[in-house]
Amino acid sequence: MQRPKICLCLTCSTIAEDLAILEKYRNWVDVVELRVDYLTKDERLYIRQFPDQAKIPCILTIRRKIDGGNFTEGEASRTTLLARGLSFADQDTRKNFAYIDLEEDYHVPCLQDAAFAFGTRVIRSFHDMNGTIPNIAERMSKMRITGFEIPKIAVMPHCLSDVTNLFKQAEALKEMEHILIAMGPLGLPSRILSGKLHSFMTYTSPTETISKLAQIGQIDPVTLNEVYNFRGIDESTNVFGITGYPLKTTGSPQIHNSGYRSHGMNAVYIPVRAQKIEEALDFADVVGIQGLSVTVPHKETIIPNLQTVSEEVGYIGACNTAVKKGTEWRGFNTDADGLTKALLEFMEVKNLLRMKIGILGAGGAAKSAAQVVKDLRGKACIFNRTVSKARSLAEHYGFKWASLSSDSLDLLEEYSELIIQTTSIGLGISEEEKNDNANDPIPFYTFHGHEFVYDMIYSPEKTPFLERAEKAHCKICNGRTMLEYQAYEQFEIFTGVPYEWPNVDTERTKRTGWKKHN
Ligand code: NAP
Repeated sequence: MQRPKICLCLTCSTIAEDLAILEKYRNWVDVVELRVDYLTKDERLYIRQFPDQAKIPCILTIRRKIDGGNFTEGEASRTTLLARGLSFADQDTRKNFAYIDLEEDYHVPCLQDAAFAFGTRVIRSFHDMNGTIPNIAERMSKMRITGFEIPKIAVMPHCLSDVTNLFKQAEALKEMEHILIAMGPLGLPSRILSGKLHSFMTYTSPTETISKLAQIGQIDPVTLNEVYNFRGIDESTNVFGITGYPLKTTGSPQIHNSGYRSHGMNAVYIPVRAQKIEEALDFADVVGIQGLSVTVPHKETIIPNLQTVSEEVGYIGACNTAVKKGTEWRGFNTDADGLTKALLEFMEVKNLLRMKIGILGAGGAAKSAAQVVKDLRGKACIFNRTVSKARSLAEHYGFKWASLSSDSLDLLEEYSELIIQTTSIGLGISEEEKNDNANDPIPFYTFHGHEFVYDMIYSPEKTPFLERAEKAHCKICNGRTMLEYQAYEQFEIFTGVPYEWPNVDTERTKRTGWKKHN
C-alpha cells in the first residue's frame, strides 16, 4: 500500500496569509491546494508565482459553489484564471503548479494540453454534495479521458453504509491511481484510512480556516499525524475505533492512539459515526476493524448483535466494548470498573455504604452506575425523563425511581449525598449554549454545598450542571477520570497488553488502594 499524500487546503483571502499558514503546517503535509476561489479578486492576479513562493508541490483549484466551493463567476472567468496559473511555464517544474484540478464537466482542451506539456498533472474531479454513486470504477475510467489524469470522486454520504460502500468499491480501484473521499462528519474514516481506499491523496485543512469547509468535514493535519499517526498506517495496521451518534466529541482516540504509540504497536483508533449500530458493525467487518468502543446511543442496542457477552454485560445490560474474534463479535463492559475507580478516587472513600445517591438518567451509562452503587453498597434513586425506564432499572437493583422533573424535588433532596449525572444533557455544548436551562438536567434543584457531584460528561469540561454545583461549593468531578479508567481496561481487552500508565496513576493507586492488573 502506497501511503497517500497529505494535502493542505489553503482558503485564505490573500496569498500572504496562505503562505504564513503553510509555514505553520509544512512539516505535516506533502502537497498544498491553492483554493483560488477563496482569494480576493486582486490577489488572483498573483497566483502564477505561488508554487515558487510555496516551495512544495501545489494544486491549482477554482471550485464552483455547486461543487462545494466559493467561485460564483462564469466559466470564461474561471478559464482565464486557470490559464493565468499555467502561463509562462518554467523549465524548472518546481516553479509550476504540480497539479491542476479540473471538474469532470469542464472541457477546455488547450488548457489540458498546456498542463500536459509542462508536466502539470490533471486531477479530474467530481463532487456529489447530495449523495454517493454506485459504480465508481466505471465512472473513474470514463473520467480519465487521456488515461493520464488522476480521477477524483468526493461524495456526501447520508449514512455510514454509504461510506462502507465506498470501501467495498475501492477494491476494484487498486490498480488505478485515483482519489476517493467521503465528505462530511460521516466520512472521517475515509480521510484517516485513505490508504485502505488506495487513494492517492487525503485532504486536510488548517485549524485557522477549517470552519470555512465545515460541511466538507476535513481534519487538520496535526491531528491527522499526531493523534492518528497517519504516516505510520499501512496494510498491516490493526484498526480499532469508537462508534456512537452524533459522536461530536470524543477523547478516546487520544488515549488509545497514544497507548499504541508508547507500546510501539502498529495500530490506529478512529471515530466511526453511525446512526445505527448495525451499520457500525458492518463497516467494521468490511474495513477489518478488530475492536469498537461503544458510546451513546448504542450501548444497549448493540447487545442483540453480539454473539457472546461477558458476565458484566449480562447483568448490567449495557456494553461499551465490542471485540471481533474470528467471525464473532464479543461484548464487554468496562464502564462500571472505570466509574468505580473514578468515584472512589473522587470521594476518597473505599465504598458508598449507607449513602443515598441520586442517579440522573436510565440509559446505558446509568445501568453501569446502578451496578456500581449496588456493588459499593450504596442506596440509589434513579431519576429519568422516561419514567418506565427508571422504574425497570431501579427494580432490578431494589432502588427507588422517579421522574426527572421538579415533581421529584423531595426525593432528589433525600438522594443527594452523591449525584451521578448520566444523561446526555449538556454533552458537547458550546460556551454560548451554557446559559440555556435546557442544558441542565435538574435546573429546578438548588445545590446546598454538601453534595458530591459527578457528571459523566467531560466535554465541555464543566457542564452548566457542574458549574452550578461548583458555585454552591459542592465537590465536583467530570467524566474524564471514568473515561480514562474504562479506556485503559478496554485497551487491554483490544490488544491483550496492559495500558502504559501515566505517572499520575501511581498517585491514584496510593490514594484509593486499587491496583492496575498485570
Ligand atoms: P443513552 O443510553 O442514550 O442514554 C441517554 C440518557 O439521557 C437517557 O436516560 C435519556 O433519557 C437521557 N436524555 C437524553 N436527552 C435528554 C433530554 N433532552 N432530557 C432528559 N433526558 C435526556 O446514553 P448513555 O450511553 O447512557 O450515555 C449518557 C451520557 O454519559 C453521555 O453523555 C455519555 O457521553 C456519558 N458517558 C460518559 C462515559 C465516560 O467514560 N465518561 C461513559 C459512558 C457514558 P430517556 O431514557 O428519557 O431517553
